[in-house]
Amino acid sequence: MKHKIITAITGIALVLCGFAFWETGYVKFILGIISAFYLISTAYGSFEIRSNYFVTSIHKGKKKSIALTFDDGPHPENTPRILDILKEKGVKATFFVIGKNAEKYPELVRRIDAEGHIVANHSYSHNYLIAFFSTKRLKNDLIHCNDIVYQILEKKPKLFRPPFGVTNPRYGTVLKELNLQSIGWSLRSFDTRAKNKYQLIQNVISKLQKRDIVLLHDHLPVTADALEDLIEHCRSKNIVIQPLPLIINKDPYEIL
Ligand SMILES: [Zn+2]
Repeated sequence: MKHKIITAITGIALVLCGFAFWETGYVKFILGIISAFYLISTAYGSFEIRSNYFVTSIHKGKKKSIALTFDDGPHPENTPRILDILKEKGVKATFFVIGKNAEKYPELVRRIDAEGHIVANHSYSHNYLIAFFSTKRLKNDLIHCNDIVYQILEKKPKLFRPPFGVTNPRYGTVLKELNLQSIGWSLRSFDTRAKNKYQLIQNVISKLQKRDIVLLHDHLPVTADALEDLIEHCRSKNIVIQPLPLIINKDPYEIL
């Protein structure tokens, strides 16, 4: 993992520069620069999941087609709207569900699965402070989400997306222990900030490329508003939408 290499290099650089510049007036300045570089790298690595700094995530497909992924559901109004459109258009997607929402709306989880989509883990709590959870608490949170899905579907998700795309060394440990594969994205729709469907459609189609994993949110009305046009745009450009596990070549569920 990149953070281990950067930490080792920083440690060596601090020691070597400490010795080399000890008797000059620059030692504090140089050690300060190295420490600042380390802190900036760590912050960047935490917030940019695509840097693979703490955890190796999959961000792109291996095939030319793209995959649609929906986070933060299920939602009682917008998830059914999205499912209706996907059904009508014959498109399969992946839903990174929040465990507590899945617990509240098990019939929607059943519908997602019954209509041929994939249910994946997006933590139980989706707590704003999840990045600060201890290893044990984080592990329990992710297990709790998988347990809820298992109670509903008798399937244990293997795909996981970190809430807010924020990672840290504890995720590295927990994901390995739980045999969960971290999934990032290559195209962020910014649907959480889009003022209307046109803005969202523009955000996606201006950047869309083959092999993209597109990040959307099924709890948002604007995403449901834009989905039909997005699918039609892909069709007009001969971009095929396929289920995520197919384009990344990974099993979505544990074989029990
Ligand atoms: Zn989320």
